[in-house]
Amino acid sequence: MPVIRPLPPELINQIAAGEVIERPSSVVKELVENSLDAGASRIEVEIEAGGARLIRVRDDGGGIAPDELPLAVASHATSKIGSFDDLEHVASMGFRGEALASVSSVARFALTSRRRETDAAFRLEVDGGKLQAARPAQHPPGTSVEVRDLFYNVPARKKFMRAERTEFAHIDDLLKSLALARGGVEFRLAHNGKPVRIWKAARDEQAQLQRVAEVLGEDFPAQSLRVDHAAAGMRLSGWVGLPTASRSQADQQYFYVNGRLVRDRVVAHAVRQAYADVLFHGRHPAFVLYLELDPAGVDVNVHPAKHEVRFREQRLVHDFLFRTLHEALAQTRAGQVESHAQ
Ligand code: ADP
Ligand code: MG
Repeated sequence: MPVIRPLPPELINQIAAGEVIERPSSVVKELVENSLDAGASRIEVEIEAGGARLIRVRDDGGGIAPDELPLAVASHATSKIGSFDDLEHVASMGFRGEALASVSSVARFALTSRRRETDAAFRLEVDGGKLQAARPAQHPPGTSVEVRDLFYNVPARKKFMRAERTEFAHIDDLLKSLALARGGVEFRLAHNGKPVRIWKAARDEQAQLQRVAEVLGEDFPAQSLRVDHAAAGMRLSGWVGLPTASRSQADQQYFYVNGRLVRDRVVAHAVRQAYADVLFHGRHPAFVLYLELDPAGVDVNVHPAKHEVRFREQRLVHDFLFRTLHEALAQTRAGQVESHAQ
């Protein structure tokens, strides 16, 4: 008979990594979200060979205390929640305390950090889950994470990595969605030593719309309507594309719930209904929308990668979204479109 035994911690982390670390862009997502949670105002992402050779994310956030570096890469260790109640009200992007443990178990990993209020930086290296001792290092206030040779010890996963260009395209798409989520943060993306994107911090609505235009196309502003409406403890703001900006594919739809990009059934249905009588069958609207509501009203602990959420009051959210968007689009029905072209 086979005997039951506990799994070694490295193997546990590699199994957990299988859930969230699907490809290089998943690593970038986890690292950039950590930078955002650390209050960074500037985030630099450097990629080599589509992320297979190197992913480096550098931020100017709050940093990690030297004695906490090993905890940062330990599984189920987080600074973001401490109780079930916190989980119910989570406002940060992370809370599972799993990402760094997972990533560092399937790559050659280094975490270098300096707390804002100190002048000593430390670097911790982890090689396929094996921790080295932290050493003093040079680093400005903030944190850098380096992930080299992703999946070098997980051949099955490595096989699934696509061409460099394809993997980089996924990373670029991800960065676009993060840049739209946080207009106030500066983002830089480079591939193989060449700068690919530079998004300077957007200080006002006009600058934010410029960032939107860089992602959805330069003609989007002239073909969209500004939405900003609050009711029932919720706020919906952003830009909805006019029927003229519709697409044959649903590839320009950005919907954020409390700063997190989500794909949600309730949201999709409300949007579809709002557009129902202004769009031809088979056309998909383009939009960038931000829904803000009390974190207690939305459960983000639905899926490890957190692409999904569950609203506690689905009906209420659905009706709020539908009414707000329907109202905004009423102008297009009346044929008196007033766009935001500048
Ligand atoms: P989670 O984000 O769910 O807490 P992670 O494994 O992603 O789990 O990170 C573990 C911890 O490491 C975080 O809770 C945070 O305290 C710290 N950390 C990770 N990345 C950064 C960063 N860029 N800046 C500051 N602290 C960080
Ligand atoms: Mg995290």
